Amino acid sequence: MSLSAKINTAVRMNIAKRRLESRKIEGGTGNPLEQWGLAKIRNDIKSSKELKDLFGQRELDRELINEYKLFRFRELVRYVMENSPYYEELYEKAGIDSSRIMTYKDLEQLPLTEQKQLAEHPYHFLCVSRKEIAREFTSSGTTNMLKRMAYTQDELLEIVDSVISGLKMAGMDSREDTLQIMYPTITATWDPGLVLSKACALSGYNSVINDSLDVNEQLRTMREAGTTLIIGTSSFLYELSKAARTLIKPGELGIKRIICSSEPLTPAMREEIESVWGCKTLRQWGMTELGLANAIECAEQDGFHLNNPDFLVEVIDPKTGEQLSPGEEGELVVTTLRRRCMPLIRYRTRDITTLIDEPCNCGACLDQRIGDIKRMPS
Ligand SMILES: [Zn+2]
Repeated sequence: MSLSAKINTAVRMNIAKRRLESRKIEGGTGNPLEQWGLAKIRNDIKSSKELKDLFGQRELDRELINEYKLFRFRELVRYVMENSPYYEELYEKAGIDSSRIMTYKDLEQLPLTEQKQLAEHPYHFLCVSRKEIAREFTSSGTTNMLKRMAYTQDELLEIVDSVISGLKMAGMDSREDTLQIMYPTITATWDPGLVLSKACALSGYNSVINDSLDVNEQLRTMREAGTTLIIGTSSFLYELSKAARTLIKPGELGIKRIICSSEPLTPAMREEIESVWGCKTLRQWGMTELGLANAIECAEQDGFHLNNPDFLVEVIDPKTGEQLSPGEEGELVVTTLRRRCMPLIRYRTRDITTLIDEPCNCGACLDQRIGDIKRMPS
């Protein structure tokens, strides 16, 4: 890299760092992911006259967050009807008027967005010109449908910001921490390992990538790098843990958290992993279509904390489409409230879960959580 290119990269990194809200969150002030979400909402309210008039004088509580999300939802419906050929046609046919959406129940008026539509016509969802796209990701996800998603530079930075907040909540709370990233090298157009190492670099944390299947190789890297957290797919970490059982004693390496992602983790798998390393194992959930890192457990292991300002979530009866109450099991439906490139409204995840509307013992009390996640039989 030439000197001027190096300087440009350094300047870009510094600008990006300054814009990261997650860097300002101090440890010991509640749940970092919730704090990050609240800071995002506060900043949003401060920067818009309309929002300031509506919410500026009120306390940021659950009721305000719900109203704020409905406000953003109405705005998003207007935005996609003007900019996305897919939603313009869908909502005009259905006679949707955004000003009539005043309660969560009113969301049922809007047709659901099917994964098949996104797979078949990705660019009909696009709301910006092609030159504003910074990265495109393709994922087959869990249903073998190839889905293409585009993001602007600002959206990628937001994703990195939310990843850092999630890692902080998972226990990455010191500059001495090192995250060992163990995703197998993949052929998809995005690599979770690279996103994570970039997030760590921007936030001043250490990370090391090792995709070796060899347990001794992984243990060597842990010792050399002083690894304190590990992240990888559930099946990979389960197999690695079984292989490590006779090689290490629990707690010996100072690993404090293990984060299992991309695949379900059964209670038996979690127990096995925790007994080998002597630390808590947390589950993470995300979909490429929704921005990769969407929800993660805290140390209480009592449901997944969502990136609250980014999403409006509903749980519905997959057969009738009717909204279900917290605690009732159904399909998770997600609206990406802050995306401008390819927003998705009432997107069917094909994942079954429950909404949790009670405070978590970690201290997060304004955040919505989701319970265990199962794939829907296809
Ligand atoms: Zn919690």
